[in-house]
Amino acid sequence: MDKKVYKIPEKGLLKEDLLQEMKEIQKGDANWKGGRTWSLVYYGGKEIDDILEDAYKMFFHGNGLNPMAFKSLKKFETEVVAMTASMLGGGFDAAGSMTSGGSESIFMAVKTARDCARAKRPDITSPEMVIPISVHPAFEKAAHFLNIKPCRIPLGEDFRVDVEAAKEAISDNTILMVGSAPAYPHGVMDPIRELATIAEEKGIWFHVDACLGGFLLPFLKELKYNIPDFDFQVPGVTSISADVHKYGFAAKGASVVLYRNRELRRHQFFVYPDWPGGLFGSPTATGTRPGGSIAAAWAVMNYLGREGYLELAHSIMDTTKALTEGINNIESLYILGKPEMSVFAFSSQVLDVYSLADAMDARGWHLDRQQRPACLHMMVTPAHAGIVDDFLKDLQDCVEEVAAKKGESSEGMAVLYGMMGSLPDRKAVKDFLLDFIDNLNWPEEN
Ligand SMILES: *Cc1c(COP(=O)(O)O)cnc(C)c1O
Repeated sequence: MDKKVYKIPEKGLLKEDLLQEMKEIQKGDANWKGGRTWSLVYYGGKEIDDILEDAYKMFFHGNGLNPMAFKSLKKFETEVVAMTASMLGGGFDAAGSMTSGGSESIFMAVKTARDCARAKRPDITSPEMVIPISVHPAFEKAAHFLNIKPCRIPLGEDFRVDVEAAKEAISDNTILMVGSAPAYPHGVMDPIRELATIAEEKGIWFHVDACLGGFLLPFLKELKYNIPDFDFQVPGVTSISADVHKYGFAAKGASVVLYRNRELRRHQFFVYPDWPGGLFGSPTATGTRPGGSIAAAWAVMNYLGREGYLELAHSIMDTTKALTEGINNIESLYILGKPEMSVFAFSSQVLDVYSLADAMDARGWHLDRQQRPACLHMMVTPAHAGIVDDFLKDLQDCVEEVAAKKGESSEGMAVLYGMMGSLPDRKAVKDFLLDFIDNLNWPEEN
């Protein structure tokens, strides 16, 4: 087969033609604005969008790499970090950085814990970290990059980490323990206070991954929802990650990693004084840092204010309640565990939920498939306020459709998911995933 060689076109396109072409290409994307997707985009509505776009454009060319040249970005970043820290129970000494996203925040927290342990516990040469199996894979990635052994702790029946098992997994080499507030798969919070107490007793760093909940749980608490303490108010919590680009409704590329104090944060920084290019110092993993996402994060926090976030939180939870009640009212479906906020998963004792997801796909609803146990994932945003009835009606119809086909062998994506979750040969599944990523990262026509 002939392969197409991609080259920069000899002649550039006209602006109108170019933008027209891009609009056409965009039509194939997921319909997040219409509330048809349940992950990836946290859409706060047009009003917020306008603010983000204006702020982003204004600082489009700014580079957070050098806050001396961009004093504006220094102001925005330090204030976003300080506002997030005080929101999450940090004292005057709490410190942090903005990063490109949750994964980078987590990477920095794990690296900082490792380097802090290296300084204080040089006897530990093979560091380990204790992580619930429900933590975001960014922790596995960080462990892999940073050469730390992950000790994976199972969940209890309520989908929260088994605290006793976590305690038992701590060894002389453990440098870090993690809990999520909440964890992505089932939207439930790990027992943060119990875990933090154990970590404190053992003198271990404890990280709370509030990437998902950091900008929602504090407001739900204010609205009198039953939210257990999870932030720096809990003794033993050493660091927290919180994504402004999730429920903070910022533009993508904005997250915050926080430490209880500045001395801890010092272990995060990288400095190199011998470069011919000059004295070099960098707070996080990236070099060039887009000014737009820093500025947009500052803008949205100041635009919404506490009142704006409370209002959004209220509406998100109303929608969540309508959806979870609607799902529980469908006889063959149930919600997993007792999720605290607006992220949850549902499953069925009698139906193949992967086939249900395929049926919903056919009606334009994109639910994410999860495994161990098989379930479907939902993350509720303001974009979903208007679609509850349509969604529940289609879900009911699809349940009946799948139930009617029961006994027939499943087809479509359902086969794949059913197989991959249970295949004992995990190496084969890894190879499949590698092929999959490899093909995704290749132009389509070739
Ligand atoms: C989204 C998420 C992350 C990773 O954040 P990215 O911004 O996608 O890198 C980490 N932890 C949790 C709980 C998340 O929901």
